[in-house]
Amino acid sequence: MSKRLSEIMEERTILSFEVFPPKTDKGMEKLPDTLDHLYKYNPEYVSCTYGAGGTNVGKNMEVCKLIADADNDTIPVTHFTCIGNTREGVKEQLQNYLDNGIDHMLALRGDLPFGWTGTGGDFAYATDLVAYVRKEFGDKFEIAVAGSPEGHIACRSLEADITFLKQKQDNGADYIMTQLCWDMEQFKYWLDAIREAGITMPIDVGIMPILDMAATINMALSRNGCVMPRELCEIISKNWIFPNPFDKEPFDAAADEKKAAFKEAGKEYTIRQIDEYRACGVNGIHLYALNKWEDVSEIIDRSGICTLV
Ligand code: FAD
Repeated sequence: MSKRLSEIMEERTILSFEVFPPKTDKGMEKLPDTLDHLYKYNPEYVSCTYGAGGTNVGKNMEVCKLIADADNDTIPVTHFTCIGNTREGVKEQLQNYLDNGIDHMLALRGDLPFGWTGTGGDFAYATDLVAYVRKEFGDKFEIAVAGSPEGHIACRSLEADITFLKQKQDNGADYIMTQLCWDMEQFKYWLDAIREAGITMPIDVGIMPILDMAATINMALSRNGCVMPRELCEIISKNWIFPNPFDKEPFDAAADEKKAAFKEAGKEYTIRQIDEYRACGVNGIHLYALNKWEDVSEIIDRSGICTLV
């Protein structure tokens, strides 16, 4: 392994992106161009999501390889989940990643597919996956883990969630990638609490650019139960598309103007959020690029993050 992201993060704040494996061939054809635009910002790494229950897993490898084979220093990081994976399956898949030059991973339990009550695999939690990867592969992988500043939606309590995060560190994880959190007071509380609990791993903060109303509401509420600060609620309310932002054929005559106004206000909100996180002294800014480069580039340029990082 050439360089460890966790070590770089101890020295300076890094910038990275998350992409997802496109569902269509057309999406896959467009991805190299999107990545080329994102590489201009010299991201330390680009991570690729891993479909729950095995969906799109093949494409995940294709995307990771695309990043690995690019003519630059950007590191590919694969997300990897416990969903439907046996011990042997995990071992085989991870060996395949290593054989393809991918030695950085985000070890997750995974989002449970609709209707499932457990992972359907040999591991119930990310803690178990981290321990297994360390046991089987030693230091061959750099391992990131998820952290939830508001507490995971299914956690018993924030305190319990923090003890499991400490367990991930004790089992061999290297750094934290955070779940969405717009509530900065909560984030600061969590930051103090995890340090108090002895968690010393660097923190790479996940930020979703706010560009589309339906996607923002969906991301916040379909799985994560995020707090939406009043300011964000106001941006949504002021630009509400009637009858609702999920309607494919809204009767609202001002729908297009509202979409544009929402996007502009959302970009400003995202830029302010980046400022606030950086002021907290986080170790990395991880932007969910949503496989788009124009809006993401505008946010980076306007935020000054590349001149400051
Ligand atoms: P865990 O840490 O295992 O926690 C799950 C729940 O169990 C929590 O409530 C926790 O408090 C509790 N818990 C944890 N350990 C124990 C234990 N040992 N005993 C008892 N209870 C325990 N999902 C995907 O499917 N694919 C992706 O690509 C993906 N990418 C993501 C990227 C980021 C940056 C983040 C933050 C999340 C991502 N997710 C992804 C979502 C993630 O899989 C879900 O949030 C999932 O519900 C929990 O994953 P986890 O690794 O945090 O779980």
